[in-house]
Amino acid sequence: MDLTLSNLRKHFASLVPDSLVTQDDAAFWLQGNATASRLAILARSDNPLLDRFRGEAAAFQAGYALKLCPTDHANARALRATLDWLAPKPIGLATSAGTGDRLGLATPGHVRAFQAVGGAVVPLFAQQSIREMQRTGRSPDDVMTDATWGAFQAGWRTAVGADADHLKTPADIDACVAAGFTFYTIDPGAHVDSAADGAAPALIRQKVAALPWQDLESTAADLMRYVGRRIQLESCAVQLDEAAVLRAAVKYGKAIAQVALMYRHLAAKNIPFELEVSVDETETPTTHAEHIYIASELKRLGVHWISLAPRYVGRFEKGVDYIGDVAAFEKDFAVHAEIARAFGPYKLSIHSGSDKFSIYPATMRQTRGVVHLKTAGTSYLEALRTIATFDPALFRAIYAFARARYATDRASYHVSAELARAPEPADVKDADAPALLDQFDAREILHVTYGSVLTTRNADGRLRFYDDFMTRLRAHPDAYAANLEAHFIKHLQPFANKGTLRGMKDEG
Ligand SMILES: [Zn+2]
Repeated sequence: MDLTLSNLRKHFASLVPDSLVTQDDAAFWLQGNATASRLAILARSDNPLLDRFRGEAAAFQAGYALKLCPTDHANARALRATLDWLAPKPIGLATSAGTGDRLGLATPGHVRAFQAVGGAVVPLFAQQSIREMQRTGRSPDDVMTDATWGAFQAGWRTAVGADADHLKTPADIDACVAAGFTFYTIDPGAHVDSAADGAAPALIRQKVAALPWQDLESTAADLMRYVGRRIQLESCAVQLDEAAVLRAAVKYGKAIAQVALMYRHLAAKNIPFELEVSVDETETPTTHAEHIYIASELKRLGVHWISLAPRYVGRFEKGVDYIGDVAAFEKDFAVHAEIARAFGPYKLSIHSGSDKFSIYPATMRQTRGVVHLKTAGTSYLEALRTIATFDPALFRAIYAFARARYATDRASYHVSAELARAPEPADVKDADAPALLDQFDAREILHVTYGSVLTTRNADGRLRFYDDFMTRLRAHPDAYAANLEAHFIKHLQPFANKGTLRGMKDEG
């Protein structure tokens, strides 16, 4: 049997060409369109591979059988077990980027962008926080399955990771282990005491005494081991005086105990995994002394981590560029990178990383590529851009609703958009609707209200926007993928091949 694309296309008109894989004398491809697709497997009828998948088999030609399988969780799992590169694995210190996808339709566009930059950045297509899953009504299996089919459909062929993002409890870990995630981002932010920054010395001493010393397998007196130390880095030294050490312990001590607890819970699962520690969503920046304290304490407690997300200086608002002095950021970030090399090496992770174009080169330069970029919500914004093009009326209704929700929904995000500065829905002409996604205030307003937009129901119980939203998007998969590709190339290019595009030689 001739399993080449040209031959199979003669028989199967709705074969998605990029998806075709031949392995072990069997051909796998996705068949259909964005609304209804199935996994097709063509193999000799006695090929045991066929039994791994659930679906309907029928005799084909010359002793071959064709099996058509639903794109469900079980078949996605079987596909990951069969086509090894689709199974997420730990990716180590490689330059990497997480894309996130709140709708489950974005991965093909993400794949196009990673391919366009030459495969030099390892993707984590499956990446979602528990908070986002709750807000979108998706399960860890949904996130993993959508990413699997998307990567398969678009022809991704090399390694991927999968990020169970911002996990706060052992139960969060359990849910994500079962779904096959490999990159675990532990967020002990609720245990960070940001008030330590402004607390008077007497209060600091009280708070030190009250730390969970048993969980920290240590005592307050042990903190003296850090006092007076001078940590020599490549370009500078960090002096740990008593005030800085006590403040660091108060601010991060409980969080460190929580990370150790979460790490041990995860390590007991006996799965391949890597850990990220993130304290990015806290009130005040992480100082260099605090970074050293965190790394030293985590090591003392036996925690292994591949990536750390301190809270950097400046403002990392959702979906917009870095707000602050870029040169000051680089100067501060450079020392974090030196600490990460001295105490690891481990990656520095850039959370809320969407659209931080002005600092990408500095993060790449200072980490020498040992960096992880995490973006989440802008694939949703590119979905809105697609809808604004094809259905401006639906887009305008979503925007009006988002404005009404903004005061409430902004609570858990770092954003500074003001309703008064964003255009009124009625003033947005159809032709200008897509460009609204580029207006700072409208962009943030739309960014943080996704949960309400996707899950709000009318009085009759029907979802108010979700079904129309997804129908429009599924009707224009190429337009959505093209918007995502353009958007993510801008993100990935500074991290890939020293900032150059491959495979696009003759452009411009
Ligand atoms: Zn984060």
